[in-house]
Amino acid sequence: MELFFSDKKPVGRSDKEQRLKQKAKVLWMTGLSGSGKTTIGLALEKELCKREFLVMLFDGDLVRTGINKNLKFSMEDRKENIRRIAEVNKLFVNCGIVTINCFISPTNEIRTMAKNIIGKDDFLEVFISAPLEICETRDVKGIYAKARKGEIPEFTGISSPFDIPPNPDLVLKTDRMSVEESVQCALDFILPKITFQK
Ligand code: ADP
Repeated sequence: MELFFSDKKPVGRSDKEQRLKQKAKVLWMTGLSGSGKTTIGLALEKELCKREFLVMLFDGDLVRTGINKNLKFSMEDRKENIRRIAEVNKLFVNCGIVTINCFISPTNEIRTMAKNIIGKDDFLEVFISAPLEICETRDVKGIYAKARKGEIPEFTGISSPFDIPPNPDLVLKTDRMSVEESVQCALDFILPKITFQK
C-alpha cells in the first residue's frame, strides 16, 4: 500500500472550492470612515451565510486591535497594515474562502499593492462612496469631531489623503442609496462570481 504522505503535492485550491461548493473571491471595500463599509460588510456576510457560503469578514478596527496592533496611521504603517491583511486574504482565498474587507485603504498605491498581492483575478474593488460632509454628519464613532479639534492626527479626508479609486469594479453611493439597496447591489454583484459550477 502506498502511504498517503508519500505524495508531497499540497491539496489545491480547486479541491477546497469543490468541497465548499463555492468559488473564492476577495471583496475589497474602500472608502472614507463612516462611508458604510462595516454596515454593508456585516449585512452582506449574513446574506451570504444564509445562502450557505463560507465567508470571512476582515474589518479595519478589529485587525488593528489584533494582528496589526503595533501599527499606527502614518502612511508607512497604513501600507504595512494593508500589506499584511492582503497576505492573509491570499491564504484564505487559497483555502477556498470568500472574504469581505472593510478598510479605508486610502491611496491608489495601497490598493494596487493589495491587488498585486492577492492577484487581479480574485480582487474585486468596491468603492463605498459618500462625500466627506455626509460621513462627517454621520460621525458614527465621534471621530470626525475629534479630528476637527486636532485630537486625531493624520485623519483620512481631513489631514491625510483619500484617492478616489479610478477604476473600481463596483461603486455604491451610500449617500443616495439605503443600506438595503446597497447590500442588495453588492449581493447581485458578488453572487455570480462565487457560485460554484461543476
Ligand atoms: P465605515 O465602516 O465605512 O467606517 P460604518 O458602516 O461604520 O462606516 O458607518 C456608516 C454609517 O452610515 C452607519 O451608521 C449606517 O447606518 C449609515 N448609512 C446610511 N446609508 C447607508 C448605506 N446606504 N450603506 C451603508 N451605510 C449607510
